[in-house]
Amino acid sequence: MKAAIFSEYGGPEALRIEDRPMPEIGPDEALVRVRAAGLNRLDLMMRAGLTPVKPTLPHIGGSEVAGEIAQLGENVKGFSPGQQVVVAPYLHDGTCIYCRAGEETTCLNGDILGLRDDGGHAEYVKVPGNCLVAMPEELTFEEAAAQTFTTITAWHMLVDKAGVRPGETVLVLAAGSGVGVAAIQIAKLWGAQVIATSSRDENLEKARELGADEVINYAERDFSRVVRQLTKRRGVDIVVEHVGQSTWDKSLASVARNGRVVICGTTTGADGGVNLSTLFTKQVMIIGSYGGTKENLKEVLNLTAQGRLQAIIDRTFPLEQIKAAEERLANREQFGKIILNP
Ligand SMILES: [Zn+2]
Repeated sequence: MKAAIFSEYGGPEALRIEDRPMPEIGPDEALVRVRAAGLNRLDLMMRAGLTPVKPTLPHIGGSEVAGEIAQLGENVKGFSPGQQVVVAPYLHDGTCIYCRAGEETTCLNGDILGLRDDGGHAEYVKVPGNCLVAMPEELTFEEAAAQTFTTITAWHMLVDKAGVRPGETVLVLAAGSGVGVAAIQIAKLWGAQVIATSSRDENLEKARELGADEVINYAERDFSRVVRQLTKRRGVDIVVEHVGQSTWDKSLASVARNGRVVICGTTTGADGGVNLSTLFTKQVMIIGSYGGTKENLKEVLNLTAQGRLQAIIDRTFPLEQIKAAEERLANREQFGKIILNP
């Protein structure tokens, strides 16, 4: 099968398109013919050797997969060969205390598709059978792949962790990112007011089209100052943080008393401080949120099939053009998801 692999850590030049052996599945696994695979910042960090968990080399990345079942292990029930499916990317054993409590993203044996084992930037990928989700027929493979990772991450943050309520104000950082385009829509779906940031005016225009009520170009203005002006010095109820080090202080400066800062990623670095006096006197909650669950994925796919959420696709590339696709993501030129077609 054709696959995008890297045999050493490095820049996009480390990527090559090669023929690889077909994966062999076990009784609890499925083989998926990948029709669309999203590109995630995680792919770039893995290829650069910057993730805490490093894959064995050579490696095929890719955590966001929609396709068709090519082969099923004998223990995988409820699906049939040829069926269109999406893969829930947060792999879990289904048996530990967290999984039994429905908190599979904190699984003691958790993994992400394409992190330790080969992922979906290939014609075929082997996946655990418990991560298969039926793809709604209303969706294209590209739309389904676009919703598998960052949209469930935003859903888990806003709905499960921060508990967004109607009438609240939500600040969404990096409006053009996968998490950003999803968080804007989810916050609006739940009846919140949305303030979105980006360094690109064209992305701010698109964020408005997605429902953002106010937008801030953070390259031109200190977003925390503008947030305080827009909220009459009160601040926002929820900050959707996924940028990390470069925005952390301003995120904390943007949150209202009794507000929540919910963080799911640190693309610019993981160092961040907090003034403990401010934290307790303002009664601010800082909430960690990691990925999203299979139930989150089912909900997001249903809402997308109903037209209540939109899959925002920036561009699609053939797998052979993965370097150009990764450079577009690395340079933050995208609005929404970049999708590869193997
Ligand atoms: Zn578990």
